[in-house]
Amino acid sequence: MEQSPRETGINSLRRVLELERRKGYDDRAVIGGLDKFLRRQEGRILQDITDRQLLASFNNLGFATSDYRSWDKKRRQEWIAAIFNWLDRAEAARERKRTTAAAGSPAAAARSRKKTSPGLDLSITSIRGIAATTADRFARLGVKTIYDLLHFFPRRYIDYSQRKPIAELGQGKEQTIIATVWQSRIVKLGRRRGTELIVGDDTGNIRAVWFNQPYLAKNFRINATVAISGMVSSFKGQRVFISPEWELVQTGELIHTARLVPVYPLTSGLYPRQVRKWTREAVDGWAWQLTDFLPPEIKRRCRLPDLPEAIAQAHYPDSTEKAEEARKRLAFDELFLLQLGLLLRKQNWQQSQPGNAFTINQELLKTFLSYLPFALTSAQERVLHEVMSDLKQPRAMSRLLQGEVGSGKTVIATLALLIASNNGYQGALMAPTEVLAEQHFNNITSYLSRASGQPEPPGQSNLRQYGGIFPRPLTVALLTGSITGSEKENLQGKIRQGEVDIVIGTHAIIQEEVEFHKLGLAVIDEQHRFGVLQRSALRQKGFNPHILAMTATPIPRTMALTLYGDLDLSIIDELPPGRRLAPAKWLDPRGRGKAYSFIHRQVDKGKQAFIIYPLIEESEAIEAKAATTEYERLSKEVFPDLKLGLMHGRMSPADKEEAMRRFRSGEFDILVSTSVVEVGIDVPNANVILVEGADRFGLSQLHQFRGRVGRDKEQGYCLLISDRLSREEGAETGKSDDEWKRRLKLLEEIQDGFKLAEEDLKLRGPGEFFGTQQSGLPELKIASITNLQLLETARREATAFFQNNPAALKDNASALGEKLARMWQGHIEWS
Ligand code: ADP
Ligand code: MG
Repeated sequence: MEQSPRETGINSLRRVLELERRKGYDDRAVIGGLDKFLRRQEGRILQDITDRQLLASFNNLGFATSDYRSWDKKRRQEWIAAIFNWLDRAEAARERKRTTAAAGSPAAAARSRKKTSPGLDLSITSIRGIAATTADRFARLGVKTIYDLLHFFPRRYIDYSQRKPIAELGQGKEQTIIATVWQSRIVKLGRRRGTELIVGDDTGNIRAVWFNQPYLAKNFRINATVAISGMVSSFKGQRVFISPEWELVQTGELIHTARLVPVYPLTSGLYPRQVRKWTREAVDGWAWQLTDFLPPEIKRRCRLPDLPEAIAQAHYPDSTEKAEEARKRLAFDELFLLQLGLLLRKQNWQQSQPGNAFTINQELLKTFLSYLPFALTSAQERVLHEVMSDLKQPRAMSRLLQGEVGSGKTVIATLALLIASNNGYQGALMAPTEVLAEQHFNNITSYLSRASGQPEPPGQSNLRQYGGIFPRPLTVALLTGSITGSEKENLQGKIRQGEVDIVIGTHAIIQEEVEFHKLGLAVIDEQHRFGVLQRSALRQKGFNPHILAMTATPIPRTMALTLYGDLDLSIIDELPPGRRLAPAKWLDPRGRGKAYSFIHRQVDKGKQAFIIYPLIEESEAIEAKAATTEYERLSKEVFPDLKLGLMHGRMSPADKEEAMRRFRSGEFDILVSTSVVEVGIDVPNANVILVEGADRFGLSQLHQFRGRVGRDKEQGYCLLISDRLSREEGAETGKSDDEWKRRLKLLEEIQDGFKLAEEDLKLRGPGEFFGTQQSGLPELKIASITNLQLLETARREATAFFQNNPAALKDNASALGEKLARMWQGHIEWS
């Protein structure tokens, strides 16, 4: 600890007074007025003073008796000047002490001077009443320093602001009275002891009781003034407050009653009243030290309050509107800093090393495309151009390619990989599972074999070479975890020597022992399945390679631009002609028999089907069991004449792969599976997917399921069944009940993945949709990534600011730089 915690009492006093002076002495620098504030601060300031003379002169200032509220401006001005004068003397004394103390440690002195706000980094134990055990409890909630406590926000507020005379108290809503204690005693309430309080005001008397809390009785002295907040009930014809919030009305501000009262998240051993007391102290003593890092123009344009004000109002709002304003400011900050950080990260990547500018052999690409059995869609054309213009730059591409399931992202990746190898660089494509990697290997090599006019080599080979149209033979390798031993070493050797041009694989590609000769492009498929860590590992394999990340998870554009703010965005928003997603049909569970015969008819026509069993949140084991039981029932009773395969999350990866392989090769007619059916799996011959327990899946997931079928020009079918309708009808009420029905209906109505994603957002509301942590980004405490409007505003402001103030961001000593570093510390590739 660099500074005594008590010194901050003086610091905050100075700040408040400066603010008051700036505002023209209108008593609006602190909520609740200066008198109250000073009385609260008095104790803390006094603790700080060891010099007797200073102490005496402090008492002359008269904090305890000031009546600033009613003074005129001149008197206010003089009084504040006197306080400043006293502060200057106090600080001079402190400075003398510090320089003597710090003489032995110049580093410490320099450090304490450099920091803009040392007090904020103090442990919360600097707050009166917070001992080490309490600090441990707070630590469980991620609160260690004063700064953390200031940013430890209430989940909601209880509105006790409705103050009423006792005679006018109504029933059934939260109300507050301020009254005088007539009687307080321990009474028997039922079988246990409790507290009974009788209070009164000019209009009448009322009783308040607390069950099981006899120890409260001693808090209420006769004739004391007390605030009681809560709901009034009627008991034996008499009105009574049952276990209300209470608070003695003394000089300080009320924090538990008579206002919007903050409700904080708690952990065992922490109680609401304590936490409120401490956040109040933190706000009073330290919020004013927060430097507002946001440029005034931005605050003005976006109508955002100042930071200290926002923090204070977020904890102890004067009104609901103030609370909303405050939370908007704090949410804006998070999104703004998130975006700035991402932009900065992108810039760091691009500036850290020069990238490799590729030249593009248009002839080769044209020839290659002419051998494909289809023409690119115009969306593919557009995206290809975006990718090519990136590749031509001498800085590394960082691009995210979003495209609906089946929109043809792989061709784009293939073309980019061709360009890299044509420039003498290696290219890599990384997929999240072996099955997907193999699928890519097969697709890409089949494109290449067409173009080279060379038949596919028979059987499974991990290394293939293509001549024909290519200026020199092109070598493609498959590298996955199941390739081991000498085969693996052989492959790795060739990759190291530069004898392989394109490597397709799983995580195996980014393992340490894999060295590239000259990696110039890395493609990451289903990028959301990888963390930022893996993205950066791949980046480090090469000479600052171009990165193309692909995803089939449609998220609204604004959100993508923010979450992937370090990437440029390309979207394929069009499916190949004639192809459409399988329409979804929501069936009554009584129609299950019909669904089974439909599947049987499709199999008779030579087609295949998936049957998916529901997500059971509690346990993969239960889920596996359900699927296994159903698999047996279906095999014996429903489809005795067909071949069924089983796949679930409890199987080893090798067994899962094996099941997929056998399904794809046509050995199974039906694959019974849990939701582990991988995203991106392509079994062109499968055209029906039946989803059981459809109510348990999210919209995006259901949408992915339907993307599994109907990829081969053939119409696909997606059948949804939920048993809730019959079995649990009436058991569930309210919103969630409607929600799953809405979900299934939306899936029937909407085909477009992006539209669905937006609807999903509206349905699920903030918070649940897309965790920033998943994507390796800092956690958002108050902002929701689903608030598209604020997200867009923050993104626009951040982008403009980034362009106009390149230097400000890198200056860690500036308020903004410090704030940015605070939010991003501990995140990969930061600084
Ligand atoms: P995804 O975007 O889901 O990864 P793929 O790249 O796997 O999609 O493409 C799905 C299928 O569509 C593949 O069989 C591919 O050959 C085919 N395909 C890609 N582009 C076109 C196109 N422009 N016209 C017709 N078929 C296409
Ligand atoms: Mg794909």
